[in-house]
Amino acid sequence: MKPAPFAYKKVRSPEEAVALLTSQADARLLAGGQSLIATLNMRLSAPSLLIDINGISGLDGIAVKDGTVTIGALTRHAQAERSDIIAKHAPLIARAMPHIAHPAIRNRGTIGGSIAFADPAAELPACLLALGGEVEAHGPKGARRIKAGDFFTDLYETALGASEVLTAIRVLAATAETRTGFAELARRHGDYAIVGLAATARGKGKGLADVRLAFFGIGNTPLRARKAEAALESGDVEAAVAALDLEPHDDIQATGAEKKHLAGVLLRRVAKQLMEARA
Ligand code: FAD
Repeated sequence: MKPAPFAYKKVRSPEEAVALLTSQADARLLAGGQSLIATLNMRLSAPSLLIDINGISGLDGIAVKDGTVTIGALTRHAQAERSDIIAKHAPLIARAMPHIAHPAIRNRGTIGGSIAFADPAAELPACLLALGGEVEAHGPKGARRIKAGDFFTDLYETALGASEVLTAIRVLAATAETRTGFAELARRHGDYAIVGLAATARGKGKGLADVRLAFFGIGNTPLRARKAEAALESGDVEAAVAALDLEPHDDIQATGAEKKHLAGVLLRRVAKQLMEARA
């Protein structure tokens, strides 16, 4: 299928994008286009204007400063995958990157697009939640920051306003105590996950503290499993599996019961990573 007709405008600043979004209610931002163009071609959406943000300079950098890693919205997945800064200071994101789609898609798809699109089976929203990160957005009233825990509100829904542009994400840089774990089950490598798990913790002696488990592919948004987090902090992996307070629905990939079983399988794998490996 071909998309419905639309106008196209390439902008040079977040302010220009915000002004166009404000003046044209059904306009959509175009970043890597890897999700948006498919929805246009399938006529799942038919915006009258596409606002191409790829010409905004300064939105594609990765930097670490004062213990915080900032990733610009237009950073391509492949750029993050190859980044020494990400490998050293945001190892959970480094673990997740190879699972996102395939190299051709990672060459174009952007970090900001992935977070803004908020697919419930996507890796990066869960990583942002596990890392307790935040989103930076520019809107008609200027810039604001939104915590990951408040950002993913429902199926493909976020706290971004209709006239806001996501400009960057921020996460705390890993320290010597940081532990991370990541695992997902997909029908083929690179497919969206049936179920996935992104996790962080702090090594405390031989145990773990501040465990954060963010499951994806299991609900309308990435989901923390708080009872399991507490059980893992007490060092009992099987108690953590038994405490998994998730009620996944059936979807086209698996039944809710299968997903819950797979969530337990992933939790055992990720718990091992958290306990064995630093970062
Ligand atoms: P676009 O497609 O350009 O935009 C997506 C949406 O986000 C649009 O609504 C757009 O308006 C909005 N948007 C984009 N940027 C911004 C911004 N800065 N501020 C506000 N709104 C914005 N993803 C995964 O996570 N895991 C996978 O396994 C996976 N598999 C895939 C397999 C295939 C075959 C394909 C085609 C895609 C797959 N993807 C997967 C999606 C891919 O990661 C996309 O790149 C990503 O979801 C969207 O990024 P994008 O830059 O392409 O955004």
